[in-house]
Amino acid sequence: MSGSIATNQTILVVGGGISGMTAALEAAECGKQVILAEKDPTLGGRTALLYRYFPKLCHPTCGLEINLRRLKGNRNVRVMTLTEVVKITGTRGDYTATLKISPRYVTEACTACGDCANAVSSEIPNPYNYGLNKMKAAYLPHSMAYPLRYVLDPSIVGTAEGEKAKAACKYNAIDLGMKEEMVDLKVGAVIWATGWKPYDAAKIQPYGYDRFANVITSVEFERLADPHGPTGGKILRPSDGKEAKNVAFIQCAGSRDENHLRHCSRICCMASLKQTNYVREAFGDAGKSTIYYIDIRAIDRFEDFYQKVQQDATVKFVKSKVAKIVEDAKTGNPVLHGVDTEGYHRYATEHDLVVLAVGMEPSVKGAQVPAEVIADSSGFIEGSPDGGIFSAGCASSALDVNRAVQSATASALRAIQVINKTAGTEVAI
Ligand SMILES: Cc1cc2nc3c(=O)[nH]c(=O)nc-3n(C[C@H](O)[C@H](O)[C@H](O)COP(=O)(O)OP(=O)(O)OC[C@H]3O[C@@H](n4cnc5c(N)ncnc54)[C@H](O)[C@@H]3O)c2cc1C
Ligand code: SF4
Ligand code: SF4
Repeated sequence: MSGSIATNQTILVVGGGISGMTAALEAAECGKQVILAEKDPTLGGRTALLYRYFPKLCHPTCGLEINLRRLKGNRNVRVMTLTEVVKITGTRGDYTATLKISPRYVTEACTACGDCANAVSSEIPNPYNYGLNKMKAAYLPHSMAYPLRYVLDPSIVGTAEGEKAKAACKYNAIDLGMKEEMVDLKVGAVIWATGWKPYDAAKIQPYGYDRFANVITSVEFERLADPHGPTGGKILRPSDGKEAKNVAFIQCAGSRDENHLRHCSRICCMASLKQTNYVREAFGDAGKSTIYYIDIRAIDRFEDFYQKVQQDATVKFVKSKVAKIVEDAKTGNPVLHGVDTEGYHRYATEHDLVVLAVGMEPSVKGAQVPAEVIADSSGFIEGSPDGGIFSAGCASSALDVNRAVQSATASALRAIQVINKTAGTEVAI
């Protein structure tokens, strides 16, 4: 790693999702040097794993491609994938960050031809489809991967499979001798943009996510609807591959619950409203979506989107916190039990598939950040006592993409202020 760009005039952005990419670009386009550290082999984060975006229902390539183009054209940003920040010492304007870089086993000579993947037979669970299918142990993460370069899973390195991959590569791009590296960098400000993760649905015992094949999560449903997903975009239920035409969405799965996440995850109402469109798109009038909700939180301008879905005859709303799910032994259908709080009727309703609108929690909670930061009771990061570490996007709160990008831009401006002060240029922003 060259020391030339890593000075305390440099901004370190941790996490290469839409928020980290935005923060890095905003700072770099103002002329600042930026290091963008992402733990995965690709940028994009969880946005790349959505089928469509609300409110316009466009594909995530819309937002990501623009950012990737800006990134490729900007020499001020240095992207480091497979990189985690393990320690940050020092203070505002003068930090030392220790980065751990894991081996990719594939060099920049890779042309993404895919021959190594064809040569190996070992498979690993596909994290980009939330483990719903498997992928080869020599892989390109997904179609929007950046850098566009294959990766070898460490499980095949040192085995005959690793050698097969190497032998298949006519560009000599596989280096099985790559080792983990530790690097210390001097940086003046840090933007923490490590995003969110879905709440562990298995912890919500009455819903049986770990017992019933046809109870899945909202993030998994995104992958089922996506043509690049495990079913090629067909909404098929996991137990028997049957078309899931009658889908139940359960809101607040884990959120707004003292036993799980106390906060409202803000996005999951909009995510389910959006996902009813996937059912309609797949099955037309023969599709049926039922949303079980406590109250629908379609924030700001999203109210229009909610109203549009309410007018869709294939979508039904049941005001109720589902008490429990049981499985019909013959059909494998999940049966939802609860009380409809508008009419106080008990129900036991059968569906083909249940989608749990799982809550969002910070992927790295405040206490896990390797520096002193201030966090709220859910672990979302607010900043640091010394005013040199800022959070962006879903590391700071459960946000939609639009708000995540706004928050990232704000963080970039704050980081620039720190850098400018360090350089002796006081700028009032
Ligand atoms: C079911 C569902 C559907 C959604 N649909 C929409 C939608 O239609 N429209 C919309 O606007 N929003 C939607 N959202 C919200 C959207 O996913 C978020 O707004 C977006 O992902 C926020 O991006 P981010 O960069 O803040 O976080 P992330 O996408 O989580 O990216 C964080 C990045 O940081 C990396 N990282 C994590 N830890 C580390 C570490 N220690 N070191 C280095 N890197 C690290 C991760 O690998 C990842 O690349 C949806 C959310 C859910 C749950
Ligand atoms: S590592 Fe070699 S074989 Fe594999 S995709 Fe890259 S260039 Fe092709
Ligand atoms: S956004 Fe909706 S589903 Fe999600 S926690 Fe808030 S109220 Fe519940």
